[in-house]
Amino acid sequence: EGKLQLVQRHVRAFPDFPKKGILFRDICPILKSPAALTAVTDLFEEHVRSRQLQVDLIVGLDARGFLFGPLLAQRLGVGFVLVRKKGKLPGATVSVAYDLEYGTAEVEIQEDAVAPGQKVLIIDDLLATGGTLLAACELMKKQQADIQGCMVVIELRDLKGADRLKPHIFSLLQY
Ligand code: 5GP
Repeated sequence: EGKLQLVQRHVRAFPDFPKKGILFRDICPILKSPAALTAVTDLFEEHVRSRQLQVDLIVGLDARGFLFGPLLAQRLGVGFVLVRKKGKLPGATVSVAYDLEYGTAEVEIQEDAVAPGQKVLIIDDLLATGGTLLAACELMKKQQADIQGCMVVIELRDLKGADRLKPHIFSLLQY
């Protein structure tokens, strides 16, 4: 069995979560399997190395980006920084508001997290409409970071999130 098949076998779908009509892709089984989690990290690392991406920092999104990001950062020998939902980070922060289906949300990063010109790779578990990654990209622009790309385990193709994003999107699985 290949690495990608191993990862795919550890994603479950739950209908009508968190709301009726949504088919939620659950990545918890990946975390529960050391082999599947290693495969995700391997595949991300292979992508970075094969495309010869220059990366100074991995930027992970609250909350499931935190599960995969630090593992990749360790492989690459670079640091990891957190983009969090509003109100969770101490000290001076920079924030970006974005629209949800109902209402708005805000993401934040510590002001000193990224230095101007640093090359960053943004990571999350899943790309749906792209709103979350778009907000993270906006934050990186405010920090004058040099975005090398975005990586997700799963891309929901029908929602066309990749079309809203300028940086290159790499996904392991597409539905
Ligand atoms: P977007 O902003 O692209 O519409 O939604 C992506 C964000 O919502 C990600 O941070 C992701 O964790 C979460 N998300 C939305 N749908 C799903 C899903 O089906 N499965 C998982 N694991 N996360 C989801």
